[in-house]
Amino acid sequence: MTTTDERPGVAAGHGVDLPSPVVGSLSPSRASDFRTCPLLYRFRTIDRLPERPSEVATRGTVVHAVLERLFDLPAAERTPETAAALLRPQWQRLLADEPELAELFPGDDGTAESAWLASATELLRGYFTLEDPRRLEPAEREWRVETVLDSGLRLRGYVDRLDAAPSGDLRVVDYKTGTAPGTDFEERALFQMKFYALVLWRTSGRVPRELRLLYLGDRMMLRYAPEEAELRAFSRKLEALWQAIERATRTGDWRPRPSRLCDWCDHQLLCPAFGGTPPPLPVGADAVPV
Ligand code: SF4
Repeated sequence: MTTTDERPGVAAGHGVDLPSPVVGSLSPSRASDFRTCPLLYRFRTIDRLPERPSEVATRGTVVHAVLERLFDLPAAERTPETAAALLRPQWQRLLADEPELAELFPGDDGTAESAWLASATELLRGYFTLEDPRRLEPAEREWRVETVLDSGLRLRGYVDRLDAAPSGDLRVVDYKTGTAPGTDFEERALFQMKFYALVLWRTSGRVPRELRLLYLGDRMMLRYAPEEAELRAFSRKLEALWQAIERATRTGDWRPRPSRLCDWCDHQLLCPAFGGTPPPLPVGADAVPV
């Protein structure tokens, strides 16, 4: 992931004057962990327990890398064929950076890896049914954004893509390699986008005109137009969430919250909800991670 320069019409999310002291940090994924299950947040953020690489998550990383690189090419060359041709080199680059990913295909004669790459190609085909990248010139890709709320809570994350119209209107775009959520989970999906909208609003002074989620798995698009009042309320929601995290840190009360998402949790063996016992908290775990 890279940090990019400030572009015309778009204030960068870094290099701004930040109030001090910073009392804590939240990214959309860590915030989402705590909302899903406080114990999951603890395992990931405080214990920093390793998690097994998964084919699905790694495929998502490679597809994101291809979609980022695609816009390096001249517009006319951004076709499904060139995107597919970028897949294997991006996978090999990731493998060179993280050799442990080789364990995704133990003892494979190439068949499983090829099938996996074919499924990634299918996701890229899905992308081209939603957008024509030949008609787009993103302002930013894999863009690191950051702001600090008045309370000292730092918000940070990476935006997959930011489009800026000549009028200055901003559109935040996020690629999802799964399928579009049902109504139960739509709020969860929009949480991440509102998080980015809030950071952009605070750093650029503009409320993004559109938040756009592209679900490549089922070729669906979710679009949302945030409003300033809503982002103010969202900011208060994040502050309340942070207070809950601080309280859990202070008291050591990291409760499991079982849900359907436990099926994807790597830490069931250590989770009381599944008969396990969490490890002792690491030394210094009574201070919130800044
Ligand atoms: S298994 Fe479920 S309840 Fe336990 S830590 Fe993981 S997400 Fe939380």
